[in-house]
Amino acid sequence: MALEPNPNIFANNPLDRVSDKRTDDEWLKGKMEDPESRYVPFYKLMPFVLPEAAPSEGKDIAWMPPEMVKPLMNPASTTVLLGINKRGRALFATDVTFGENPENGPLKGMGEFEDLRGLAMKGEITSGELAIMAQGKSMIDWHLRHGYCSACGHPSRMAEAGYKRVCPECGAEHFPRTDPVAIMLATRGDMALLGRQPMFPKGMFSSLAGFIEPGESIEEAVAREMMEEAGVAVHNVRYHSTQPWPYPSQLMIGCHCEAETEEITVDGVELDEARWFSRDDLRAVLAGEDKGFWVPPPFAIAHQLIKSWVAEG
Ligand SMILES: [Zn+2]
Repeated sequence: MALEPNPNIFANNPLDRVSDKRTDDEWLKGKMEDPESRYVPFYKLMPFVLPEAAPSEGKDIAWMPPEMVKPLMNPASTTVLLGINKRGRALFATDVTFGENPENGPLKGMGEFEDLRGLAMKGEITSGELAIMAQGKSMIDWHLRHGYCSACGHPSRMAEAGYKRVCPECGAEHFPRTDPVAIMLATRGDMALLGRQPMFPKGMFSSLAGFIEPGESIEEAVAREMMEEAGVAVHNVRYHSTQPWPYPSQLMIGCHCEAETEEITVDGVELDEARWFSRDDLRAVLAGEDKGFWVPPPFAIAHQLIKSWVAEG
């Protein structure tokens, strides 16, 4: 039985990550050289994307066979296994950020390296491929920024197809990180609390959010952030869904919770303003009506939290 679909962009990754096989260096070497395997090159953390084959058909990730991607790589290229697709092909992501953009060289005229956020916002590639690209971006980014052992400072080396780094000097093992962030919609009766960060575009209000700290449960982080940013005590924290967010490697944990008071005291640092919005106004804004404010678009988990709460009433 398959998992229920997750409403969030960058979720629903369709690949088999073969954690039982990727520890086998011989198997990995065979897959890396197998002409049936496919690679997506990343330049400055952007995947290479082919233009639409026909208008409105959407763009495609440029999956390249080994002989096509090899000229773009150098011996220092970071290459990670993404997984095995439903056709049994091994898929890899590889970093080709060396000097000039290959878009102006060997890949000229074929397509473009495109920022994932733009692709997600415009809905130009399928949700399964967006999820795979989020995985590739977070993995390559982690390796590029973690070349040295954090225990002793010696250069470390990649192992297990990218899912580990090992220090040859002190033997320490390091694993790709995921940073949990709680994002929550506090409600009270038929009202929901949304806030504005100073950097938000004009008129946009969204769910409050914050990093979960060491030694903290999801519920505790939700309650702490609501109190710190808005001065509102909450209880009955309920998990809604999660969203991998590859900037660089967050896991957004979406929750609903109930506020105990209506009075709001914003911290003035993380939030400029916070307000209660009625379910009817939120429903109208989701339907595209102008109510003098707007909420994040569907690719943001905040949108899904608001949408599911609006649908309850
Ligand atoms: Zn070390």
